[in-house]
Amino acid sequence: MVDFVPDDTAELRGWRNEARQFLEETIPGGFYFDYDYDESPERWAKCIDFWQAVGRKGWTALTWPAAYYGQGRSAIERYILQEEFCTYAAPNYPVIGLAVATALLRHGTPEQKKQHLKGIAECTTLWGEGYSEPGAGSDLAALTTTARRDGDGWILNGQKTLGTAAHMCQWMMVLARTEVGVQRHAGISCFILSLDLPGVTLLPLENMADGQQNQTFFDNVRLPADALLGTEGQAWTEIWFGQGGEKLVAGTPPDIWQMRIERQLKLLRGYCAETQRHGAPLDQDPVVRLQLAELYSGVELLKLHAKENYAQSTQLDWHASNPVSPIMNLGWFKEFWPDFCQTYMDILGPQAMVAEGPDALCNGHFEHYFRASFGNHAGGTAQLKRMTMATRGLGLPR
Ligand SMILES: Cc1cc2nc3c(=O)[nH]c(=O)nc-3n(C[C@H](O)[C@H](O)[C@H](O)COP(=O)(O)OP(=O)(O)OC[C@H]3O[C@@H](n4cnc5c(N)ncnc54)[C@H](O)[C@@H]3O)c2cc1C
Repeated sequence: MVDFVPDDTAELRGWRNEARQFLEETIPGGFYFDYDYDESPERWAKCIDFWQAVGRKGWTALTWPAAYYGQGRSAIERYILQEEFCTYAAPNYPVIGLAVATALLRHGTPEQKKQHLKGIAECTTLWGEGYSEPGAGSDLAALTTTARRDGDGWILNGQKTLGTAAHMCQWMMVLARTEVGVQRHAGISCFILSLDLPGVTLLPLENMADGQQNQTFFDNVRLPADALLGTEGQAWTEIWFGQGGEKLVAGTPPDIWQMRIERQLKLLRGYCAETQRHGAPLDQDPVVRLQLAELYSGVELLKLHAKENYAQSTQLDWHASNPVSPIMNLGWFKEFWPDFCQTYMDILGPQAMVAEGPDALCNGHFEHYFRASFGNHAGGTAQLKRMTMATRGLGLPR
């Protein structure tokens, strides 16, 4: 099954060096920023500055077609960029723009592509995602937000919830029901809309790890005709399953989950090497060594899966499903991450629960990420990923 793309040619080594040099010049020493769990305006601004610099290089759109602000470069070059960004600790690309770019590249009209892809490539427009509703999370097809035809446009009414960083965004991709009384997965359409439109209201939803999601209310919001993305009534297939949940064809580095886990492992190994317990460094303790080895093996396996996911995503037709994506998502991100955090809490002991002040380990980083690891249902829960893997990956009956 594993089908890696070779990444060890002189040309690709040169590309890797170019990426590393850019990082050293742009964010010397790295700049770790995780927008899901950080509301500092200064750090947000620095993250956007960084991605605008990446955008000026044309690297966010590295693999997009040249006609749409891209460079038409290879998947392996994108993968190498991702690895370098993760290893160096670059901030993650803000929010949902890359999923929107994937949908636009596949289903947008030429005018929609011209209008929206540039802002995503250059990180001058930030996008939120309005899928989930209070009564429609895992069961997304239960959504009740409606878009009713009105002249050549639409009137949008309803409520979305858990919108990551919508308060920082200018635009949103929204799923709404355009036909009622039909089979529940049919009659759902995708709209792209400015959050400045009259009738759009946001309310904050603070998460338990210091970040903010949002509730978004649509009260008779008038949408123009060109707000519809893709075919009317086909968003379930085209937009949701068409991108395999997270199959980001337009994606660019770094992968946020890999970056989180690599960062934590690095901090943990450093701490265990420097800290004495019972007169010896913590990483000499046989039990701790075993735990560190397990975490390290997990991270290496995660990276292998990431590579295979890349190969699959890019070798398959854009419209085919990618069975590796849910495996990776489930095994390594949804389940490995909380286990990883629990294991490091066991190694570090009660002091790891101190969030701030002189007694906080690594400035409270471990405590913060332990809290964050309970939010692993972003993008769909582990149970739902298993179902996707069984039905779409293995072709099993429901
Ligand atoms: C940090 C964060 C960011 C998010 N960002 C966004 C965003 O930007 N935009 C957006 O639209 N949404 C976003 N979400 C929402 C996310 O997609 C939903 O939380 C997720 O789909 C789960 O839905 P729910 O929270 O309603 O849980 P529920 O669907 O109510 O699930 C509750 C529990 O029941 C289980 N369950 C449900 N159905 C089944 C089943 N059929 N079989 C077995 N078990 C089942 C679930 O696995 C889970 O354990 C975000 C969530 C988080 C935590």
